[in-house]
Amino acid sequence: MTHNITLIPGDGIGPEISEAARRVIDATGVSINWDVVEAGEKVIAEYGTPLPDYVLDSIKRNKVALKGPLTTPVGKGFRSVNVTLRQELNLYANVRPAKTLPGLVTRYENVDLIIVRENTEDLYAGIEHMVGRDAAESIKIITREASERVARHAFELAVKQGRKKVTAVHKANIMKLSDGLFLESVKNIAKDYPQIEFEDMIVDAMCMKLVQTPEKYDVMVLPNLYGDIVSDLCAGLVGGLGVAPGANIGEKAAVFEPVHGSAPRHAGLNRINPLAIIMSGALMLLHIGEYEAADRISQAITAVLKEGKSLTYDLGGTTSTSGMADAIISKL
Ligand code: NAD
Repeated sequence: MTHNITLIPGDGIGPEISEAARRVIDATGVSINWDVVEAGEKVIAEYGTPLPDYVLDSIKRNKVALKGPLTTPVGKGFRSVNVTLRQELNLYANVRPAKTLPGLVTRYENVDLIIVRENTEDLYAGIEHMVGRDAAESIKIITREASERVARHAFELAVKQGRKKVTAVHKANIMKLSDGLFLESVKNIAKDYPQIEFEDMIVDAMCMKLVQTPEKYDVMVLPNLYGDIVSDLCAGLVGGLGVAPGANIGEKAAVFEPVHGSAPRHAGLNRINPLAIIMSGALMLLHIGEYEAADRISQAITAVLKEGKSLTYDLGGTTSTSGMADAIISKL
């Protein structure tokens, strides 16, 4: 069977890492008809937007996309393309595994976490305005519907993957209404899953505990902003942004992308680590039912890391982006 999949190369380092991912995925032998669509900075001049309709149309049609990072200029200008894409396609759960990779030496062992980040609301709803000249206001939206939906996703994932515990992360002691509603919603859903241990933790305490004893945590469910921050923290526990994959899941579509951004400083140098997007590609293969190919990619990555000869700069080596892809392909 041939799968139709949208490929968004992205900005900055996007094109080089997505090419690496595409080569590795194609080398598994899975038949994919890649629908390559450009988005981001390079299309603004022609289309007047970094996210032309054809991008959303392609994802809606194919229901699955692999995406490189897209740059969002800081301050004025366009809204984040990434946030808009997640909202437009209602990709409500952002799932980001952070797992110790066999063969990769880091400060921690046995980290095996999954972040489930609410992906459509919170301070990312983009409702901001100036109050006069010298004050700005940003509105935090939390709804019961979105909170229960992402909580159910976290518990279902815990059941499916044989996980033991779900931790709801919040700041309900201070934001009693908004984070209070998030926490109440997760607690309501937790009642349907008595077999899964449930606890809640205030976000600052969670950060400290993750740095001290990450092995004690399992699945975490968080509102959008805390999910964004805590997932970079978790990436740091297992080797950095170069090895942090992610999935944005909705009812009608799923977009797989690395946690990291477009790292413009490194663009075009063929030196950035392609593992995060390759691992996102493996998550994508699981999503479309190509379990064996996904497993072969994971095993090939493990073999390359254990051998330690073909590592990019962030993992202590000197191998190029394309060189690392070649090394993985040679182990498939
Ligand atoms: P970034 O993740 O692009 O890079 C920060 C630093 O992390 C880099 O300078 C580099 O040292 C390191 N790094 C990132 N990816 C790496 C990799 N694959 N291998 C090795 N090292 C890596 O974050 P930033 O500089 O804050 O953001 C740059 C742009 O990307 C911004 O416009 C931002 O909005 C955008 N962004 C996009 C996404 C997305 O598309 N989903 C996510 C985050 C940031």
